[in-house]
Amino acid sequence: MPLCESWYPRIAALLYEPSQTPAPPAEVVIEFKHFDDPRVGGFTQNARIQLNSVDALLPQVLPFEAVVIHELTHVVQGVQVGPQWLYEGIADYVAYTHFLHTNQPFLRLDAKGRLHGYDNSNPFLYSLQEKKIAPNGAYAERHIPAGKGYRHGYTVTAAFLYWLEQNKRPEIVRELNTAMKTRQYHPMLWKKLAGASLDALWKQFLKVSASY
Ligand SMILES: [Zn+2]
Repeated sequence: MPLCESWYPRIAALLYEPSQTPAPPAEVVIEFKHFDDPRVGGFTQNARIQLNSVDALLPQVLPFEAVVIHELTHVVQGVQVGPQWLYEGIADYVAYTHFLHTNQPFLRLDAKGRLHGYDNSNPFLYSLQEKKIAPNGAYAERHIPAGKGYRHGYTVTAAFLYWLEQNKRPEIVRELNTAMKTRQYHPMLWKKLAGASLDALWKQFLKVSASY
């Protein structure tokens, strides 16, 4: 798949630090498999990616190529020790910031603190808006404690990471990824890298977002 041949090395260059061992796998296997749930784009284990072959993948909210980039990122990430939301957020950060260029360093919030203002021409946050996810934590389908909306992972976390990179520390995504890969992730890391606790940084991010 030409997309993979050109993007796998680019993703490795973004996230991999040569001092790490081992390096990302030299080969990646991609298979198509039928997942009954059309919201599942794919699944990755080690260097094996399974992409959902179901026709019903909703292209306006889950663009196929972005799914491929997301899963390729998981291959580069490898086995990591750290929060799942961050692992998934980094994969969406790569797909939507560097590949599709639709990530933005803020969430657009309405007066009730819900995502607002995205139509399906912007797939990045549209699905979250439609699910009425509130980034302060409230979410009908899943319990996330108030003030810890970054735990939504995926696109919400991707926007947060982009904001951190732009405003706090340019290398933060690579550094967080390395910390998880080398089993050195620790909640105190946020203060060291970005100058404040994770919850405090999230609060700043929402405050900035509310002005858009
Ligand atoms: Zn994933």
